[in-house]
Amino acid sequence: MDRRRFLRGVSAAACMSAAGSVVRTAFAVDDVLPSGKINRVAVIGAGIVGASIAYNLSKRGCDVILLDKTGPAAQASGNSFAWINATYYDMPRSYFTLRSHSLNEYHRLAQDVDIPIHWGGSLEWYDSAVREKEVSDGVRRIQGWGAPTWIVDKKRVRELEPNLQIGSDRMIAWSSREGAVHPGDTTRALASRTLEYGGTAVFPATVTALRESSAGWLVETDVETFEVDLVVIAAGINANEIASMAGLATNLVKPATPGIIITTKPMPSVINAVAYTTDSHFHQLSDGRVILGEKAGPPATDQHLAYLTGHPNAYPSSELAMEHAERVIATAAKYVPEFAGAEIENVGVGWRPLPLDGLPTIGRPKSLPGIYLASMHSGVTLAPIVGHLAAMEILDGVSVDLLSDFRVERF
Ligand SMILES: Cc1cc2nc3c(=O)[nH]c(=O)nc-3n(C[C@H](O)[C@H](O)[C@H](O)COP(=O)(O)OP(=O)(O)OC[C@H]3O[C@@H](n4cnc5c(N)ncnc54)[C@H](O)[C@@H]3O)c2cc1C
Repeated sequence: MDRRRFLRGVSAAACMSAAGSVVRTAFAVDDVLPSGKINRVAVIGAGIVGASIAYNLSKRGCDVILLDKTGPAAQASGNSFAWINATYYDMPRSYFTLRSHSLNEYHRLAQDVDIPIHWGGSLEWYDSAVREKEVSDGVRRIQGWGAPTWIVDKKRVRELEPNLQIGSDRMIAWSSREGAVHPGDTTRALASRTLEYGGTAVFPATVTALRESSAGWLVETDVETFEVDLVVIAAGINANEIASMAGLATNLVKPATPGIIITTKPMPSVINAVAYTTDSHFHQLSDGRVILGEKAGPPATDQHLAYLTGHPNAYPSSELAMEHAERVIATAAKYVPEFAGAEIENVGVGWRPLPLDGLPTIGRPKSLPGIYLASMHSGVTLAPIVGHLAAMEILDGVSVDLLSDFRVERF
């Protein structure tokens, strides 16, 4: 067994056990590769975006190497709220359309990858008149684009969510077609399926340099160097660093902001929709686990700032983690009292990859056609459509019009 195969075996085993997914033995490759074009691709980053691109490429028969300095879902994708939605009220229409396509793509994806998606819709309400006005204007705008989103009264909310307590007379927006996933499990399932389709994963492997070669690119890592036809950069908050290795001057992401994400152990079903409000957000997965978050960031004390410089994904001690988790759960229990006393499975800190203008950057830079960029917030929502379209652009040599507002050249 050579070194690469060994690494691949190790990685595959790690993916499978973490995802808890069933190893399938018979594969159907979607299409044959167009001859003489892109045959070998390195995907840098095994977050949900990189894993989805790698999955789509390997499903189409491309020789994919998925690289990550830690492993699947180690950064944002393991510590995300993971609401799949199209209800950003201030977004341009092209972004709404892309997100809507991704909601549909999740249904297609779930036929091939073992992803339990909880389709329970979403409810949003806020305690400020300014925010309510933004939401009501936004609801009208996206209704005009065909979104199944409405302002509903408390009677309707009671029918939808008998356990949800919204004390005041707030305006509530209901979106019926949205859902949520477990972000880490989904990422690991995509990475596992990539291997099942014949892809290679090398974890941990930190990419240290990118160099152009006669065949394409040399991807240097602390493990070994890979020669490929094309490199996908899906490195989340580290996108700028990797893009600059390729000689790309543009900043793709701005300084990341942290968010706490709590996952409980399975509990009896109490809520169906994703709930999002001023001081709390939560949803319950099909297996009974609840994922919760809060909008507030950490106070800007010197101690916090010093610790947060390294973008940690965990609290420095389990006591501190539990203290924060209990606060987040107590806030959510104002709305769903059954949450009080929930047992905690995990407390994570996620760092949001924030594109400069809030919109994703997807595609090959005109100056560097051997590079493919995939950098975005809302990567959990967007991963299925981005994976599918990226594979088309890379393997079929087309330029997908749906992505034309998200090219790096706009900066
Ligand atoms: C608190 C929080 C809540 C969120 N809520 C939502 C939500 O409700 N809905 C939604 O759609 N999105 C949400 N997001 C955003 C979403 O989680 C991210 O957009 C998405 O996870 C980004 O995925 P990614 O694959 O691009 O990046 P990541 O998951 O960060 O993956 C990047 C990977 O690149 C690897 N890497 C970096 N540098 C190197 C290197 N030199 N060599 C090798 N590997 C490297 C890292 O190890 C990492 O695994 C949320 C994010 C956070 C933090």
